Amino acid sequence: MLELHKVHSYYGNIQALKGVSLKINEGEIISLIGANGAGKSTTLMSVCGIVSPRSGKISFEGRSIHQLPADQIVTLGISQVPEGRHIFPHLSVRENLDMGAFLRTDKDGIKRDLDYVFSLFPILAERSGQAGGNLSGGEQQMLAMSRALMARPKLLLLDEPSMGLAPLIIQQIFDIIKKINQEQNTTIFLVEQNAYQALQISDRGYVIENGHITLAQDASELMQNPAVQKAYLGI
Ligand code: ATP
Repeated sequence: MLELHKVHSYYGNIQALKGVSLKINEGEIISLIGANGAGKSTTLMSVCGIVSPRSGKISFEGRSIHQLPADQIVTLGISQVPEGRHIFPHLSVRENLDMGAFLRTDKDGIKRDLDYVFSLFPILAERSGQAGGNLSGGEQQMLAMSRALMARPKLLLLDEPSMGLAPLIIQQIFDIIKKINQEQNTTIFLVEQNAYQALQISDRGYVIENGHITLAQDASELMQNPAVQKAYLGI
């Protein structure tokens, strides 16, 4: 479904990705794990068109996307939930969700998806008239995920969904990620510091170090890998 081939991405003179290659098949949950500054967020931002790779190729469903603008990438079926959520704090919960469906015209489909996100996160239905900025951190994460789902993505990119949340909420968020994958057949590309929980719900995983992919294995194999255990799982 998604393929990155030798992707090199920069911020000015700083090279963040040094030839990243990876593949994601339809229906999979894939984790990308690595230390701070390894290039995880840059990988996601290169896929969704916020960062333009200086060289290399990114293709989605066989179509080259690395030169497309971000809004066109959304219409092809890729949505991102950015690190730090970035909801619209002054808009209501409902208005935030409407923004997620901004590029769609199928009213019936939008209504179905709104019902679906409210079934996943009933608290958002209860708070639909409240300003997004008044929600708790966990509720804002739910809103950011729901806003992305309102674009009806085939591929959902999640950047650190557990960051700053209480353990009980983190578990709930990971359970829902798995549920979205199973119920909607949404393919998931997950970036996480919380490598243990991410790998537990993933099919496969990649390790990124200093802009290079250094390991690609089934999630269960990565969890058994002594180097991964030591560096990322705290075992
Ligand atoms: P973290 O978990 O801390 O978010 P990460 O693995 O997601 O880390 P990136 O944010 O992709 O890493 O950063 C990769 C490299 O690019 C780092 O060296 C970082 O300092 C640099 N970088 C990231 N964003 C910028 C930016 N806006 N300007 C300059 N350098 C940046």
